[in-house]
Amino acid sequence: MARMRDAGVTPTMQRLAILEFLEGTKSHPTADKVYVEVRKTCPTIARATVYNTLEALTKAGTILQLTVDPSAARYDADLGPHVHFRCRLCGEVYDIDVKQENCLGDLVKGHRVEAVRTYAFGVCASCRKKGRDDA
Ligand SMILES: [Zn+2]
Ligand SMILES: [Zn+2]
Repeated sequence: MARMRDAGVTPTMQRLAILEFLEGTKSHPTADKVYVEVRKTCPTIARATVYNTLEALTKAGTILQLTVDPSAARYDADLGPHVHFRCRLCGEVYDIDVKQENCLGDLVKGHRVEAVRTYAFGVCASCRKKGRDDA
């Protein structure tokens, strides 16, 4: 709730439900997935409300919009430094622990680095277990 007010986003029940769902998942859902899941607890929520809220929260810096998936934007409420890995077979997006804060706060060619967003791509553990790894 405080995070939303700080971000200048009025915390309605529906918006809270959206943020709570995002904070409770590691699946980096698309807007459509957020809509399907939040509708289970807020049956009256409109698709446009979900899209508008995700946009407002992204603009406010409360959540991250990921461009790791070319087919649809995905959302993440985890603002800590971590790298996103996308499986090219199943399309799932996972958090992986790769040090990326090396240059955070540093001046690089006169620019102050405040955030680093890195994406990693490959075949995920669950697909490799199923023997789908063609490498
Ligand atoms: Zn996979
Ligand atoms: Zn993440």
